[in-house]
Amino acid sequence: MKLAGVSVAGIETCIEVPSLRLVLDMGCCTRAAVQQPVVLVSHGHLDHIGAIAQHAARRSMLQMSEGIYLVPAAVARDVEELFNAAGRLDGQAIPRRVVPLGPGEDFPLANKRWVRPFETYHRVPSQGYTVWERRHRLRAEFRNLPGARLAELRHSGVAIEEAQDVALLSFTGDTRVEVLERTAELQHAETLVMEATFLDERVTVEGARSMGHIHLNEVLERAELLPRGEVVLSHFSARYGAEDVQRIVRERLPDELRPFVKLFGVGGAEFAS
Ligand SMILES: [Zn+2]
Ligand SMILES: [Zn+2]
Repeated sequence: MKLAGVSVAGIETCIEVPSLRLVLDMGCCTRAAVQQPVVLVSHGHLDHIGAIAQHAARRSMLQMSEGIYLVPAAVARDVEELFNAAGRLDGQAIPRRVVPLGPGEDFPLANKRWVRPFETYHRVPSQGYTVWERRHRLRAEFRNLPGARLAELRHSGVAIEEAQDVALLSFTGDTRVEVLERTAELQHAETLVMEATFLDERVTVEGARSMGHIHLNEVLERAELLPRGEVVLSHFSARYGAEDVQRIVRERLPDELRPFVKLFGVGGAEFAS
């Protein structure tokens, strides 16, 4: 899945997903991100939400539809207040639609496609998001039949297909690692964007946990829980330069994970291998 934008811990996170017409967090507002009408906000830390009013105001200035901001229900009122204060500073109301959404609640994105938050474990109210798509596939008992026979069955009213909900994209936002064990869909997502803020001994696992973040050690210990689609590690601490990240992950990643793991920092996803 094509991703663009930036994600550096404590600095800014704004990950565009053009194919789904949405953005993951809004810590800074790139020109491209303005084009996407829906923003999934993981939590209220300013490096994840600080540019939200800018995004909405710029869409309004460009006469685009109002931005839609899905936020954890616990922060919805503060987000509205932030928009109101920004509108007073700017001298005009900022058109926007703030949608408080809790874990397990659905928000429709397109025909047969929706987003549903899941619980995460950070230092402030937080949640991750999964984009689901309903697909239809042949039921197991019909899979080996020739096309003509299938057409016949369909014609005679037999339900030869079944619905299957596919997790296209899961985004953890900032969280401790137990989100992997506790959220079944993360293990099956076609693309999993997860934070891995700390990569080596410069910060301990305990240190990472106390800050509400994931350490690479914890990811490697849970390799069997990672989906076999695409795992995009992101939100690296600013103490690691881009080359640092590449080198450390390359050194530490076992062979079996190399085909699945990509790194996302500044400017898009790159393969770890
Ligand atoms: Zn963060
Ligand atoms: Zn945070």
